[in-house]
Amino acid sequence: MARQKIALVGIGKIARDQHVPALAASPDWELAATVSRAGSVDGIESYTDFAAMLAARPDIGTVSLCMPPVPRFAYAEAALKAGRHVMLEKPPGATLAEVHALTALAAANNLTLYATWHSRMAHGVAPAKAWLADKTVTRARITWREDVRKWHPGQDWVFEPGGMGVFDPGINALSILTEILPAPVHLTSATLTFPENRQTPIAAALAFSGNVTADFDWRQEGPQTWDIVVETTSGSLTLHMGGSQLSTSDGLASSGPDREYPNLYAHMATLVRDRRSDVDLAPMTHVADALTLGRRDVTEAFHF
Ligand code: NAP
Repeated sequence: MARQKIALVGIGKIARDQHVPALAASPDWELAATVSRAGSVDGIESYTDFAAMLAARPDIGTVSLCMPPVPRFAYAEAALKAGRHVMLEKPPGATLAEVHALTALAAANNLTLYATWHSRMAHGVAPAKAWLADKTVTRARITWREDVRKWHPGQDWVFEPGGMGVFDPGINALSILTEILPAPVHLTSATLTFPENRQTPIAAALAFSGNVTADFDWRQEGPQTWDIVVETTSGSLTLHMGGSQLSTSDGLASSGPDREYPNLYAHMATLVRDRRSDVDLAPMTHVADALTLGRRDVTEAFHF
């Protein structure tokens, strides 16, 4: 089958690290144009203005938006109004309401909207969900500690309103949690630690119903920690390294190559073919709740 044309918008860190290689290897997609004020991809037609690309390239039916969450809504709305299917990087927006608006706009125009959660595509997540499906969870602990300077070098937007701070990676853990738990949980308390010179937290400690906790910290240098441990009445499960490695107390052990972004694009191809959308706001709801309910602590100033 012919590959469908797609445009990549916002050529920055994640576009270069993941989207461009995933599209280059995809049997479903042809990267037909980029839109970015400063970035481009060798050999691909590039635009600096989104409206100009939409007008010039009616043959491109899908756009994948890789810019930070705050500016993303205007691009997504314009794309849907121009009859294009839309794929959103995580988190899907700056607010829940704007993503609801996009969902309604996509539905009204019979277009696909995909709010991606790349961590849900990690190797161990689907088998973890299957292992937990018939079990009773007694406790779950998330430990998500990484180095913001490594993953967001110089990206001040993560500390601006809407940038979500440590919830930018933390929402990846919450996307896994909300995928694998057999029953939903809700936030009961949170402590958020803000650098004195920043608008968003650099660390967060969350507690949920069902004896579930999360420890997010962006100040960890050296080895990085992305672990989820779930205890049940019939054994325990550990997802290690962001969900790429799974082990259970009854001997299940599984790890595999990183296929997160290839899997996202394969799923997008299926959604477009079937004219369906996939928008699950559960991870972002927990973040919004933490920002609503959280107690604020202040720590030393942070500079890149
Ligand atoms: P980034 O490199 O700072 O930004 C991506 C691109 O977005 C920039 O190169 C910029 O391109 C464009 N952009 C920035 N501000 C804009 C604005 N106000 N209006 C229009 N375009 C703007 O960020 P990133 O690390 O790639 O992250 C982008 C998204 O991917 C975030 O939602 C993040 O959570 C997600 N993500 C990031 C990572 C990671 O490791 N960094 C991993 C997974 C997911 P131009 O200036 O050329 O227009």
